[in-house]
Amino acid sequence: MTLDDPRTGILAERLAAVRQRIGAAVAATAATGGAAADPTLIVVTKFHPGADVLRLRRLGVADVGENRDQEAAAKAAEVADAHLRWHFIGQLQSNKAKSVVGYAHAVHSIDRASLIAALEKTMVVEQQQTGRANLDCFLQLDLSSAYPELAAQANNAQGGRGGLTPSDMEKMADKIAASAGLNLAGVMAVAPLGVAPEPAFELLARLSAKLVAAHPQATGISAGMSHDLEAAIACGATHLRVGSDILGPRPAVL
Ligand SMILES: *Cc1c(COP(=O)(O)O)cnc(C)c1O
Repeated sequence: MTLDDPRTGILAERLAAVRQRIGAAVAATAATGGAAADPTLIVVTKFHPGADVLRLRRLGVADVGENRDQEAAAKAAEVADAHLRWHFIGQLQSNKAKSVVGYAHAVHSIDRASLIAALEKTMVVEQQQTGRANLDCFLQLDLSSAYPELAAQANNAQGGRGGLTPSDMEKMADKIAASAGLNLAGVMAVAPLGVAPEPAFELLARLSAKLVAAHPQATGISAGMSHDLEAAIACGATHLRVGSDILGPRPAVL
């Protein structure tokens, strides 16, 4: 595989287009007095092969995201020499904590106390064995309360996309902050399906401010995907998770 193989060319083009969108959104946000720092681009490689991860690495990508442990662990092992930062962004079962801390730099999808306990336990062992750095932990928040019209249909698949109810955020943040091996990095969310993302990301920004007031280092805001990264940047996103606009479509159902 070389830089002029056709797939690398396609990825390079799409990556450049996404970087351009990010640059434009950062400039637009700065022009209105918002945060102007460049967010970290996490390229979500789920369903795409390790060869694509290597292509992206050669194109300057340092951060990649995956949402299933089995796939992520295999890919991380396959391209271990590429020195990437792996971000785990999907629903995580506690019994997968041991596997995930073997390769992940960050977990963006922390949504319950039992998972925090499992990650702490496995990180303590992992750090004794490998001396690895603390695991960055983002609290995933359910933002459906930003939409009164969705509250009426609670538990509807169109509503919440997983995560903690905002009222549980501070309690969980304190738990992470008190855990060995875990670094409280900030908040994460996926905007609800089928509605404009702005109310969700505005709520996320308010929740982030509340978190930072209690935990000044926890400034991360992981928000924004292919279709809504501009709205997320306008609300102060520090980490974008972009898949399909760079890698192309995923299989619809697995
Ligand atoms: C797949 C996924 C993304 C990327 O979504 P795209 O629409 O492909 O950019 C972002 N965040 C999470 C949690 C995901 O599962």
